[in-house]
Amino acid sequence: MPDQASKYSSPTTVPVGVDPTRASIARVYDAALGGKDNYEIDRQVLKQVAKAAPQVRDLAVSNREFLKRAVRFLTERAGITQFLDCGSGLPTAENTHQVAQRVNPDARVVYVDNDPVVIAHGRALLEDNDKSFFVDADIFQPSQVLDDVKVRTYIDFDEPLALLHVGTLHHYTADNGGDLMREYVDGMPTGSFVVIAHFFNPETPELSELARKMEYHFMHSPMKSGRFRTREEILALLPGLELIAPNPDKGPGLELCDQWWPDGPKVLNDVEKCIVGVVARKP
Ligand code: SAM
Repeated sequence: MPDQASKYSSPTTVPVGVDPTRASIARVYDAALGGKDNYEIDRQVLKQVAKAAPQVRDLAVSNREFLKRAVRFLTERAGITQFLDCGSGLPTAENTHQVAQRVNPDARVVYVDNDPVVIAHGRALLEDNDKSFFVDADIFQPSQVLDDVKVRTYIDFDEPLALLHVGTLHHYTADNGGDLMREYVDGMPTGSFVVIAHFFNPETPELSELARKMEYHFMHSPMKSGRFRTREEILALLPGLELIAPNPDKGPGLELCDQWWPDGPKVLNDVEKCIVGVVARKP
């Protein structure tokens, strides 16, 4: 049997940490959202992609807004009380625990990330919250996450949970992401949910070219990751799961992040048409 560490590999398995000469996914994302916890090397990634897609930052905004709506949906409509948030990112104004605990003050959140800057900020932020916790682990090694002592202590695996992989799997550049996700799904009880937001290649003549260019620039930037997968490739990341309808007017499926239970009518730009969100349930 190959060991878990060699089964899945990604450029983000070794955290960049606070090295200002290497771009970090968390810091690039922070820069895209207008935060202050980033270096010139991180901003360079966005500048490089902006050559092909001047509105590149909208990918991050659409992703984050989707995360909040999906967490509200799961807490309010699906009665989920525990969240395993993989790749939590740098703290923003509204983090998963704040969104969930506004609906249900007893909701528990375990955040997982391997970026030292994220971990330091996260631990400080959560000091006063006795229902939210931080774990330092590689989210692309499911057994590392699922077997973690803190995860096992604060998530009850006899009760449904929500696994968030929002804005993470496009940084997993290998083609066996379906196997990786199957390990997570196998470890979760029936009635659990998986939430994914992912860079998207819509496979239309105009938008495919844009998606391919953004992918090229991300992959050749100092960040070295950012795949724009097709509908079929993203669905392969949800093995054995039932998709949830993305809003009351639509059937189950993937949806552009901005149109997943939208806050209101919005005219989307082309970049916003290149990121999708999906919520799926383990039957
Ligand atoms: N999920 C958050 C959201 O949607 O707002 C943040 C998404 S951010 C784009 C991706 C996060 O995944 C970063 O904080 C990064 O440090 C983390 N990450 C990337 N690869 C990782 C790995 N192999 N193990 C743990 N965390 C990882």
